Amino acid sequence: MPVVFFGHGSPANAIEDNEATRAWHDIAGSIQRPRAILSISAHWYTHGSAVTAMEKPDTIHDFGGPFPAPLFDVQYPAPGDPGLAQRVSELLAPFPVQMDQSWGLDHGTWSVLVNAYPEAEIPVVQLSLDLDRPLDGHYALGQRLRPLRREGILIMGSGNIVHNLALMDWSNPGATPFDWAVRFNNMIKEHILDNNPQGIWEFQRHGRDAMLAVPSAEHLCPLLYTLGAREDSDTIRVETDFIFNKSLSMTSVVFDTGNRI
Ligand code: ZN
Repeated sequence: MPVVFFGHGSPANAIEDNEATRAWHDIAGSIQRPRAILSISAHWYTHGSAVTAMEKPDTIHDFGGPFPAPLFDVQYPAPGDPGLAQRVSELLAPFPVQMDQSWGLDHGTWSVLVNAYPEAEIPVVQLSLDLDRPLDGHYALGQRLRPLRREGILIMGSGNIVHNLALMDWSNPGATPFDWAVRFNNMIKEHILDNNPQGIWEFQRHGRDAMLAVPSAEHLCPLLYTLGAREDSDTIRVETDFIFNKSLSMTSVVFDTGNRI
């Protein structure tokens, strides 16, 4: 299976029809149908790693704010996959993985999947971000997940390369992006294409651009899992490569095996 990093942006993408949501649908249509999906979302972080281990994960509306009412009614009733949760735990050993029964699918996962796989039939498991881990430690966990690709599992990271909500222009998605947002997004893309994950976990070397683009690292972390799961033979496709609202990059990346449906 390929590995995909989705730049998820606003939760409202779940109910919008735009260039990004259409591209997510097209990405799903361009790759083999997974047996199950393992999602690493920017919106679930725990002390130590955890996986959703329930048969029927809830759709969690883990956001507030001036979003349209229908967004709070969205359900993504995909089944869970306790067997996959167990398999993830085996692969991450000796690091302990908590078998979680209280989380579910958060909007980092379902706002993308409701567009990519609207029928919600493919089982989905979420893996949390371990708050206690340094950035290169997230990459190392991604490396351990790599065997899942040969087991029919789509590993997806869901975050954003540039994610500054405080400086966003909420009223104008198409506003000209900040220069620093463009520079930082391009720098990270180059590191992805050059297979230089260290350049990404050392992003703070980029001073002011990095501080503005990544005020906190949780939206960048899912990218490190996908880079860890990369194989040398993968081809890389950069998709939806634009910045919404001046400071929210929607860049997605497909690490593709070249195998077709
Ligand atoms: Zn988010």
